[in-house]
Amino acid sequence: MYKKVHLRLAALCAGITAAIMIIMSFFYLYVSETGLYRNQYNLFKNDMNTITTNLEQQSVISMEWLSKMEAQGNYTLFVLDNDVPFLYNQLTSLPESEKFQLLNESLAAYNSRYIISKAPDASSPYTSFHVEFEFTSPSNQEKYFCGIATIERGSSFLKIVVLFSLNSLKQQMREQRLNFVLINILAIFLLFLFSYVFTGKLLKPILENQKRQTAFIASASHEFRTPLAVILSSAECCVDAPAEKKNKFLNNIKKEGLRMSALINDLLTLSNSDSQSFPIRKKPTELDTLLINAYESFEPLAKEKSLSLSIDLPNDTLPLCHCDPDRISQVLSIFLHNAISYTPQNGKINLSLSYKKGTFSISVKDNGIGISDEEKKKIFDRFYRAEQSRSTKGHFGLGLSIAYEIMKSHNGTIGVKDSALGGSEFFINLPCS
Ligand code: ADP
Repeated sequence: MYKKVHLRLAALCAGITAAIMIIMSFFYLYVSETGLYRNQYNLFKNDMNTITTNLEQQSVISMEWLSKMEAQGNYTLFVLDNDVPFLYNQLTSLPESEKFQLLNESLAAYNSRYIISKAPDASSPYTSFHVEFEFTSPSNQEKYFCGIATIERGSSFLKIVVLFSLNSLKQQMREQRLNFVLINILAIFLLFLFSYVFTGKLLKPILENQKRQTAFIASASHEFRTPLAVILSSAECCVDAPAEKKNKFLNNIKKEGLRMSALINDLLTLSNSDSQSFPIRKKPTELDTLLINAYESFEPLAKEKSLSLSIDLPNDTLPLCHCDPDRISQVLSIFLHNAISYTPQNGKINLSLSYKKGTFSISVKDNGIGISDEEKKKIFDRFYRAEQSRSTKGHFGLGLSIAYEIMKSHNGTIGVKDSALGGSEFFINLPCS
């Protein structure tokens, strides 16, 4: 399922980017090809200009010069005197039959396009003009730029037909297109790879969250199974039990019902925190009063287990802390409840408060069973219980994760370390405002 979504997302990402890239590159290709064509045509026109001007100035046509022009521009040149080809055999390297055909085709194209009637210029001994156009040879279907210059010398006139095959330009464009296609294929492949890695990174937290949710549901169901089994078996026994034993079973049902209710409350708190609907009602709070209240609530329980519970408060008057007193009391209850649960008889528990540079620190130290360094990293995880505390009834491994969420919503910190008393020390740091 995840793999499918991942692949689809990567394909979608790569597809959209590739489509934009292909459109842009084809647009660029179009602009570049039009530019290439225009440049070549302008070059050809310039050369035609040079050829015409030179021929105008030469009284004798230089073969050497014409051959140079032909080689330089990769042209096919024909010179006609009064429409009769001359210098015809010496120029152009094409086979005889092709030469003649090409010349005729270009002249036919010229005649079909232009009707030229130009009055001789009285101020100049010669009149010259030239035209350039593109034409496709009907015999070989090749495209050419064709330039025809006419130089009139009195009653006779000289014609120069210059042809430039667009084959090389076409070849250049074909190569450019092929390069573009290859580059695009490579880019699409790289895009897909990048999208796959990128979307994988994006999906990772979602996948982890999903895994956490599944584990959470599995653990919660597991926790519900034990009290439910006790309730069901007690209810069954209750039916046939004699009146004096019925109370025992009813008590079991009530005890397990209360356990389930506590578990549901914890689960609701965590689920509210996950959906960001954790109600936090901050108000100016006297933290020392909060600690005294917690101390007074837990003292009887500590006494019951023969534990000595002490409290240390600063002598100075403390500033008020902007926090949710109910939630901070809940954290204190979790710490004290755990300390009482995991400290053997005659042990010591100390609750203390200090204030430094705008931060309150509250800690609960005990000299109980302690927590190994390995377990210190895990105890804030949901449903995590250290091995030795698994048998402790009424502990679902949710208390510290609730405390963690409460501190997160207060922008505070929470932690655990080895206590000076010999067990563990849980602490929270709470900003004043
Ligand atoms: P639980 O309901 O199981 O106490 P918590 O989330 O409050 O769940 O605590 C997680 C685990 O951390 C406990 O199962 C226990 O192993 C360990 N722990 C918590 N407090 C103490 C403590 N004061 N001393 C030793 N171990 C503790």
